[in-house]
Amino acid sequence: LCMSTRVFRSQHPNVTVPSLDVVSYVLQSAQGNKYWQDPNRPVYIDAETGTSVTIRQFQQLVPQLAAGWQRHAKLQPGDVVAVISPNDIYYGPVLFGVLAAGGTVSPINPGYTVPEIVYQLRNSGARYVVIDPLMWSTVQPALKEVGIDEDKVFTFPTSSSLSQKSSITPAVVPPSGSIQDILSLKHSGPWDSPRWSSNQLQEALAYLCFSSGTSGRSKGVMTSHSNMVANLVQINAFRQAEGISHYGQRLVGVLPFYHIYGLSLLVHSPLVQGYSVIVHRKFQMEKFLASIQKYRINYAYLVPPIMLRLAKDPLVDDYDLSSLRGVASGAAPLSSTLIEEIKTRHQVTISQAYGLTESSPIVHMSPRADYSEDSVGTLMPSMEVKLLDEKDQPLGYNQPGEMCIKGPNVMKGYINNPEATQAAFTPDGFFRTGDVAYVNERGEFFIADRLKELIKYKGFQVAPAELEAVVVSHPQVADVVVLGVYRPEQATEVPKAYVVLRDPQLMTDPVQAPKIAADIVDFVTQKVANHKKLRGGVEFIQEVPKSSSGKILRKKFRAHLNHKQQAN
Ligand code: AMP
Repeated sequence: LCMSTRVFRSQHPNVTVPSLDVVSYVLQSAQGNKYWQDPNRPVYIDAETGTSVTIRQFQQLVPQLAAGWQRHAKLQPGDVVAVISPNDIYYGPVLFGVLAAGGTVSPINPGYTVPEIVYQLRNSGARYVVIDPLMWSTVQPALKEVGIDEDKVFTFPTSSSLSQKSSITPAVVPPSGSIQDILSLKHSGPWDSPRWSSNQLQEALAYLCFSSGTSGRSKGVMTSHSNMVANLVQINAFRQAEGISHYGQRLVGVLPFYHIYGLSLLVHSPLVQGYSVIVHRKFQMEKFLASIQKYRINYAYLVPPIMLRLAKDPLVDDYDLSSLRGVASGAAPLSSTLIEEIKTRHQVTISQAYGLTESSPIVHMSPRADYSEDSVGTLMPSMEVKLLDEKDQPLGYNQPGEMCIKGPNVMKGYINNPEATQAAFTPDGFFRTGDVAYVNERGEFFIADRLKELIKYKGFQVAPAELEAVVVSHPQVADVVVLGVYRPEQATEVPKAYVVLRDPQLMTDPVQAPKIAADIVDFVTQKVANHKKLRGGVEFIQEVPKSSSGKILRKKFRAHLNHKQQAN
């Protein structure tokens, strides 16, 4: 802590961020890493089929795809390519091909509904799309609506995705010939590797992942090449300084690759740090456990609800998990009780990481040894933190305040949204995380609360403003506020709607009220991705507290709910 300014800094020296685009940085790191000297080492292995992409294939594919994007697809520097796919061994090569050609990738949740896909395609300004062929029936209407022609659409290599699914009906696969397999882009000619100056690297966008930030609907987070490279360098330097390493390990890839947490630790970092990832299309408990046993997996990056299942699920006893040395939890709060429960059942180290889409993503990680396990860890090198009180005054040790962060990994802003960008930063350039934290004298940070509206269901973002817009479009609803309620038995928050009906008498009608509540839950289920469903249900209220300007007073409402609960 610097006493005069009350800025907290990492205990480790600052890093220098090389003046490289993310592809060059990752490829050069791999080149210099002993683990990758064997060209047949797999970077990504498909958990189901065992098919892999080796380091040599990766090194060949990226320039071939980059050349194809430029020569066949006529991609121009700065063009945005949306990628809509579950985890796949080709996810990394596809992304890096686009980036090497000078494009920007906007990864989209493959579980999205048509309107959700349309929203992200529009807001990211996507010109091209790469999809998993199985997603064709959902994606096609979205492309029509946005006006993206089929010749701008490519599929992931069909063999890898189709061989795993015997049950697919041909109707959901794009009719052959209408859309090209991404591998048809492979072009052995040279490509124009964009030569960015270090200033341009800070401007040129590598990724547009979507996050709601502290309020409102989700927004495209402008992650520059230099942001992404910075965080990879910070993580690497931190791990080296702390003497922790994944070198030569096998990690399980169950976190979604479209989310920045998986994107960084499971798609980019393996090449930088030298480890292989066993890729799962999505998380399923049995497959996850079977994979640890079969592939002798050493380490797993997880989210609290999966940690909970490791602690409690009887299935765990059916598998040999003796290869597993450590697990890390991030993306949502992990309780101390849960940490104890895991330690009782498994011989593993437990780490935490804290980060956000806006910080590319890692801000803190557990250091090597002798640390408080309920802390999210200590600061990455080159990061500065201020903890601000309600009047934006900086606080000292052990005083909880809004955590505001600065560093080379913090985003440029939200795309096409200068107001949200401005509101996200303090006047002296610190990004407001919307999380309340405190720090002890050992530099360990603890997340105490969340100021922002954001709800996290199993680590996935749910923006209340978006759900409120859906609920209010129900014909019987007059007004609504959506909040997260914590479910300890699932180790996650779930979204719950507090609804005012147009006809207030129905809200107390013992027959009608439960029917309408169930109908509203169904109505939302039809319109949103799985993780946004109203799992917390619907409760009727008389009025949504609002300010004179019409803004929902969430804090006041939450306080009122807590008060009511205590009174009961
Ligand atoms: P996302 O942009 O989806 O990664 O979400 C970032 C948000 O997730 C943060 O602002 C926190 O509210 C929450 N979060 C991430 N990591 C942790 C953690 N280790 N403990 C508690 N909350 C976390």
